[in-house]
Amino acid sequence: MYFKGKELKETDIFMAKIFAVTNQKGGVGKTTTAVNLAGGLAHCGKRVLLCDIDPQGNATTGLGVFKSTLKYSTYDIMLSNVSTGDCIISTSVTNLDLLPSSLDLAGAEIELISTMSRETVLKRSLDKVRANYDYIIIDCPPSLGLITLNGLTACDKVIVPIQCEFYALEGLSQLMYTINMVRKNLNSTIDIEGVVLTMYDKRNNLSGQVAAEVKKHFPTKLFNTLIPRNIRLSEAPSFGLTIQQYSPESTGAMAYNSLAAEIISKER
Ligand code: ATP
Ligand code: MG
Repeated sequence: MYFKGKELKETDIFMAKIFAVTNQKGGVGKTTTAVNLAGGLAHCGKRVLLCDIDPQGNATTGLGVFKSTLKYSTYDIMLSNVSTGDCIISTSVTNLDLLPSSLDLAGAEIELISTMSRETVLKRSLDKVRANYDYIIIDCPPSLGLITLNGLTACDKVIVPIQCEFYALEGLSQLMYTINMVRKNLNSTIDIEGVVLTMYDKRNNLSGQVAAEVKKHFPTKLFNTLIPRNIRLSEAPSFGLTIQQYSPESTGAMAYNSLAAEIISKER
């Protein structure tokens, strides 16, 4: 690649940092975190791409995009030869683009099995647009199948949302095992960027206990920001808005802005 007649070295070209938001447990706040962290980063002036690889498409609908009206989705970048740029759409949030999901993705788990280099298709597609963004956030489905494996292979670092509830830590050893396998075989630099506690309720003793337990397991990885249980966060997707658009003064918006600031400050 050349800039003003001079050949650029790889280190001269700015590449987006890619985070996969993952936890195979369902309903722990992955999508809420992916959408509103992306919203928070965009709010800070960062160029962000939110990549929805969950066939449920909650991040897509949560941003007010109707899946039935889409020409292309992440399915097409993974299994058809459609270029990544053609699948990206802009959103109502300044600086925030979306690679939307569609129901076709549900079949991708099976179709990928017979694809060449099946774990790296998403990585190869995202690498083509990486120079256009500061951050790419991948919203993973609640499983550790081939689609999630593609997310883990494509990312630099993993963000793990943990819901403050009794079974919070259950299944985490399986996630850590998968991340270690990915590090050995597919993505040597993958690591956990941070664990974020979601739906934290300071009036509830259990939330405090879960926080203490998570800190014991991940002493250096817990984000300082706690995401509180906040009704506005659960309402925002039904209006197709990020929390920063829907209720900028809410505790939920402040928490996700603070998480975005924490992530930006780590880059310095
Ligand atoms: P899935 O595994 O199905 O993809 P998920 O991990 O992406 O789920 P979300 O969809 O983000 O989880 O959240 C599950 C539910 O909890 C949603 O109804 C969401 O609105 C709600 N929710 C998430 N975080 C919060 C919060 N901090 N406060 C209140 N409600 C929340
Ligand atoms: Mg989700």
